[in-house]
Amino acid sequence: MNNGGYVYLVGAGPGDLQLMTLKARRCVEMADVILYDRLVNPLLLEWTKPDCEHIYCGKLPKRHLLRQEAINEKLVQYGSEGKIVVRLKGGDPSVFGRVGEEAHALDEAGVQYEIVPGITAGIGAATYAGIPVTHRDHSASFTVVTGHDKSEKGEPLIDWQALATGSDTIAFYMGVKNLGYIANQLTLHGKPKETPVILIQWGTLGSQKTVSGTLETIAEEVSKSNLTNPAITLVGNVANIRKEPSWFERKPLFGQHILLGRTSGSQGAIAHELEELGAEVFEFPRMYTKTAEKPQADFRNFDQIVFLSPESVEIFFNWLRADKVDLRDIRAAFHVRSKKSERALEKYGCFTSELSKVKDGCSKVLLLGNAHSANDKMLLTDTWGLHEYVITHHDFVVSSTDVTCERLKDEGRIQTIVFPSAQSVQTVSDRFMKMGWSIEEINETVKVICFGSMSEKAALSAGYKVDVVLESPTKEALIKALIQLNITEVVK
Ligand code: SAH
Repeated sequence: MNNGGYVYLVGAGPGDLQLMTLKARRCVEMADVILYDRLVNPLLLEWTKPDCEHIYCGKLPKRHLLRQEAINEKLVQYGSEGKIVVRLKGGDPSVFGRVGEEAHALDEAGVQYEIVPGITAGIGAATYAGIPVTHRDHSASFTVVTGHDKSEKGEPLIDWQALATGSDTIAFYMGVKNLGYIANQLTLHGKPKETPVILIQWGTLGSQKTVSGTLETIAEEVSKSNLTNPAITLVGNVANIRKEPSWFERKPLFGQHILLGRTSGSQGAIAHELEELGAEVFEFPRMYTKTAEKPQADFRNFDQIVFLSPESVEIFFNWLRADKVDLRDIRAAFHVRSKKSERALEKYGCFTSELSKVKDGCSKVLLLGNAHSANDKMLLTDTWGLHEYVITHHDFVVSSTDVTCERLKDEGRIQTIVFPSAQSVQTVSDRFMKMGWSIEEINETVKVICFGSMSEKAALSAGYKVDVVLESPTKEALIKALIQLNITEVVK
């Protein structure tokens, strides 16, 4: 069979988006259909094509949403239909990921596939908790073990003797429920009861939590802490070298979950910087931009050109190129409405300022913007005077972005909403309404930061309680405010 159908069995890594391999990311971007597990960071789904079909096969504890056989069937079915199918699993697909069963089903059906390894949680979570799984002075071996299996009581049937005496560092997966049993067996079979143990929950994510103890005390420590799966139980002397908090937990924005309102398809540089500082950032809603048809208008005939968005800048220059119009023949002065558009223009060597206004007079003014902004005719005329409007593009919200948003909210991963503009208040609130969320409900759990007085006004009139208005609409001011919020949270 060679109809283009292909299945990728892909490891998504332990959680932190940046721990995904380049190959895995490319698979996600190519997929026609994506089948994903509960432990896959839902933010990865934002990288799919806008029309990619998303299928959740998460097994919730005690509730199998999509049984393994049904998953295998779907992989075969979509692969046979000629689709690019991505089966995305947390960590590495070969480590307690049932990839063997899926590969077997595909082999049987003659569907082509490949397997893309990922960073497994036992290594990823340990590293982010500040523990190397091997160390020349403390650990010469590392073993990966299931803490739960198919046996009647779920207690793992393993060679405890060999494990207790033969391995320096042991990572138990899925083991929280059986922790007491595991610790007992290891002690009974010869591991000293003082051996350090650390549980790392949601490793590599902003919600990472750890509980430490020894083989003797850990079961009680964990039951006091209410820590549950997903967690890695790491046993071994190497855990003693952990510095608390770890390098990851020390990042200034560690633990912050931010929803950054956005109004167009382009991704902001701010999100990247916040992530570098340890925050998890969800740019919402995800949009994609479709370029409009090239207009008949001759851009050489205008005196003033106003770019209403950075996308309009890109598209304008593409159109000039397509028509072989030399930039030096454009006599118009350029104007912008935002810093982003200003930066986009600078890339083409054109300088202007956000504040520059079209001079009154009888000049011919052209506005370039998306289809949506064209509706604000009155407001645009007030600001820019009589003008012609050319639609450069259409911005669409990708509907799967709501699913990502709902998952993050369920997992408590929306703590702060940042509104960079008044328009973002509108765009974000529209989505919340579509999902049936009330602003009162949001106000109960979320802090709101506005970039300036316009966004503040819009947020207040939409019903949000605004916690912070930035001193200046810059990323430095935003980072300062977020760090301040972090400190306040810790003090509470
Ligand atoms: N294939 C995965 C493991 C799947 S089994 C991998 O290679 O990592 C599911 C178990 O993995 C969970 O019960 C938990 O023990 C562990 N796990 C997965 N992601 C984790 C994370 N971010 N932090 C801690 N443990 C995690």
